Amino acid sequence: MTYLFWSTPISWYNIIALTPIMSKTKHLVCTFYGVMPDMKSYLKTKLRGHRLTAVETTIDKQSCLNAETEILGVFVDSQVTAKIITALPKLKLIVTLSTGYDHIDLAAAKKRKIPVCNVPTYGENTVAQHALSLILALSRKLFPAVKRVKESVYDYHGLKGFDLKGRTIGIIGTGHIGIHLIEMLQGLSVTVLAFDVFPNKSLEKKGFKYVTLNEIYKKSDIISLHVPLLPSTHHLIDKKEIKKMKKGVYIINTARGGLINSEALVWGLETGQVAGAGLDVLESEDIIESPERLFTQTMNASRIKTNLMDNILIDHPATIVTPHSAFNSTEALQRIYDVTINNIKSFENGLTENDVTKPPKKS
Ligand code: NAD
Repeated sequence: MTYLFWSTPISWYNIIALTPIMSKTKHLVCTFYGVMPDMKSYLKTKLRGHRLTAVETTIDKQSCLNAETEILGVFVDSQVTAKIITALPKLKLIVTLSTGYDHIDLAAAKKRKIPVCNVPTYGENTVAQHALSLILALSRKLFPAVKRVKESVYDYHGLKGFDLKGRTIGIIGTGHIGIHLIEMLQGLSVTVLAFDVFPNKSLEKKGFKYVTLNEIYKKSDIISLHVPLLPSTHHLIDKKEIKKMKKGVYIINTARGGLINSEALVWGLETGQVAGAGLDVLESEDIIESPERLFTQTMNASRIKTNLMDNILIDHPATIVTPHSAFNSTEALQRIYDVTINNIKSFENGLTENDVTKPPKKS
């Protein structure tokens, strides 16, 4: 796309002179799924000139896809499968309104040389704040306390919490979000231990110490996960790992549901090995969000079992589960949409940014 700027008023002469350039301008067909209602008009304004369709629903809820789509925009709740990529023969770019991209079949996109652009750093403080909220809420039994008062029971018995002061908090993943959480924890008189496959020792001056995963499990009173979901991190926390943890540990997950084996966590909670969990993500959250998926896609026994376990986790008295809303602040949403629009504009100018199909650039 060509952008035109001029400081003098536009005359008929200008318009005639510019016609050949403007006629080259390609109005791309952009289809967005999972767009927040209050962000639709912003997207339309910023992508003016393109043929934009922006809907709130997920991609699988569409009875048919627009085969003319050249730019596909999705949120994490839309699974962009190989089948969907094949059904869009004109697709040139996929943009995701998120950091995580495990909902997109990268191999299928790569095969068609379609860049997949994410928003790498919109919400480090936002998601860290949500993780901290879950820690604070669990430590003071805030959710059952509020619920009780709302139900007209004004009684503190059975609501004994614990002090964070003096506790050890284990952070797995010291990327953008993990490090922000570490910074936020500094005012709470806690000891922070961390593990990362690529430790950056210079970060330790922020007030934590890198240790092994086993040490995290052995010493932490609270463990918070901040790693991406990859084949290597799938079920990072399973029964074996929970058994290694301190009895009465609290587990926080604002990263991805697949990092924890839901069945193992239910086991941990039922046996008392895990005292509580704060979860913003669940392994089968796609089914929880849209239960009809149980009937519309190929379901195997293991997925159905995971869904059952997730429902137990939701109802469990020792958990707080939020609906994948850690990203959802006014400021973070603005950043998500601005970076996504920029990803599209860069692509139009031949400078693809934040393409996760490419190896990261060395700094
Ligand atoms: P990031 O890429 O900045 O950091 C991830 C860190 O994890 C990196 O330092 C990496 O080295 C480390 N890592 C990778 N594999 C690991 C492993 N096996 N063990 C230990 N460390 C490992 O990512 P981020 O911005 O901090 O986000 C973390 C995750 O949070 C994202 O991948 C995304 O899935 C999730 N997220 C969730 C929400 C939400 O709304 N709940 C919002 C944004 C991001």
